[in-house]
Amino acid sequence: MLTDRVLAGLAETTSPARVLTAREDLLTYASDATPLHRCVPEAVVIPRDTEQVARIVKLANEEGFALIPRGAGTGLSAGAVPTTDSVVMLFPSWNRIIEVDAVNHTAWVEPGVITADLHAAVEPYGLFYPPDPGSMRICTLGGNVAENAGGLRGLKYGVTKDYVMGLEAVLPTGEFLSLGGKSIKDVSGYNLLDLLVGSEGTLAIFTKILVRLVPKPQSTRTILASFDSVGAAGQTVTAILAAGIVPSTLEFLDQVTIRAVESFAGLGLPADLAALLLIEVDGRAHAVAEDADAVDRICRQQGAREVRTASNADEAEDLRAARRTSFTALARIGPTTILEDVAVPRSAVASMLVRIEDIAAEHQLQIGVFGHAGDGNLHPTCITDARDAEAVVRAEAALEEIFDAAVALGGTITGEHGVGLAKRKFLERHTGDPALRFMRQIKAVLDPSQVLNPGKVLGRSARCEHPPLGHPAYEEALA
Ligand SMILES: Cc1cc2nc3c(=O)[nH]c(=O)nc-3n(C[C@H](O)[C@H](O)[C@H](O)COP(=O)(O)OP(=O)(O)OC[C@H]3O[C@@H](n4cnc5c(N)ncnc54)[C@H](O)[C@@H]3O)c2cc1C
Repeated sequence: MLTDRVLAGLAETTSPARVLTAREDLLTYASDATPLHRCVPEAVVIPRDTEQVARIVKLANEEGFALIPRGAGTGLSAGAVPTTDSVVMLFPSWNRIIEVDAVNHTAWVEPGVITADLHAAVEPYGLFYPPDPGSMRICTLGGNVAENAGGLRGLKYGVTKDYVMGLEAVLPTGEFLSLGGKSIKDVSGYNLLDLLVGSEGTLAIFTKILVRLVPKPQSTRTILASFDSVGAAGQTVTAILAAGIVPSTLEFLDQVTIRAVESFAGLGLPADLAALLLIEVDGRAHAVAEDADAVDRICRQQGAREVRTASNADEAEDLRAARRTSFTALARIGPTTILEDVAVPRSAVASMLVRIEDIAAEHQLQIGVFGHAGDGNLHPTCITDARDAEAVVRAEAALEEIFDAAVALGGTITGEHGVGLAKRKFLERHTGDPALRFMRQIKAVLDPSQVLNPGKVLGRSARCEHPPLGHPAYEEALA
């Protein structure tokens, strides 16, 4: 329980209106987009500026409560889920794009800026911010940097860390830290930027972010190819890359996902299709036209049943709909959708898909798979019912086998969604010493009082043991 002194300190630092304690407000912040983790915070605080953030962090150190930074709450590893005796920190009005520098190709943004708003804001300058998580219309830059978010354009353009040039942040002790800048090259000292990007709200609270921009591609072509076998789709991915073409997007949908999308969006996709590939090439117009022709040819050579190329922007949006609606479509099949995330070397994508299919059959589960085939990042999505404890146990067992299979194939337990609460057990299992020890030491040095998002990533803290959804103690914990 937070003491009255803490609540008074939060109100004094910000204002009474910026501290929420009403039960209905707190319930809103009890979970993120991860369905099996939930915990009601003791309070929510909305700081106005960096100085207030620093003062709140110092108060947390003095009074011993946990702080949970939160963006839009779209996280898929329970990173923004509160822990007991915690205060959630929100940045809803920190949504200014402070500067777009068209000469240096950079933008300074506040952490609450919605990712798609940054895309739109830089476009009039002929510039482009490539990271495009599927949630880009709602998630924030602060959350993207904290999770090192990827997206559909990762194969050609990389992920969030490839675009962060500078950060202003408050450390877990309340000290202010400024890193990086507009200089493209900078090797002065250890690479602290890379340490903080992807630190999942456990090492720093970002208050300002400097991102790198690139020139907007002159032209884009969008192609949707359908296949009668997963193997043919996999060979097509290999053949496209072997031909020296690097598509900006190379996305895969399996049969379960295709059927769900068809029933949701009615795009005219045959129910017996085994796989779909969404392929986009971008760049200079003449090169794009050549690449698109080559992709079309390769798809047909590899036995595609149909290849559709969009002839204008509206048609391209229609073709993208199959991929963009995958999660929503799958979520309609059952009450609970667990959207997971594994990554394997590209050469192991086909084997990983076979393993997922076998594991789903073994556990009698419906698991749809879609994802970024070009960079080996797949999203096995398990449809279950969190009210049914036995079904949850089966789903968790299957997902555990999927994570182990990814690692056995030379991959990893998460390609872009992070560890948070959801995967800390697997991080421990698959990360050997001394790497795990280094991570714990870094956390201990930067956050000696364990105030910042404790128990996430490296969870040893008793502060974040929640009964899972479906467990009899769960309703009690929420009550
Ligand atoms: C439908 C859907 C599609 C998605 N598609 C993708 C995808 O393609 N690629 C991908 O990578 N992810 C994807 N995600 C996951 C999620 O959107 C990303 O992880 C995103 O970066 C989270 O941003 P957020 O603002 O919602 O952060 P939150 O969920 O609110 O927080 C995420 C983490 O960031 C920390 N955090 C937030 N703000 C700050 C701050 N200012 N300072 C320090 N730490 C902070 C939190 O403590 C937490 O650990 C998807 C999610 C959904 C629901």
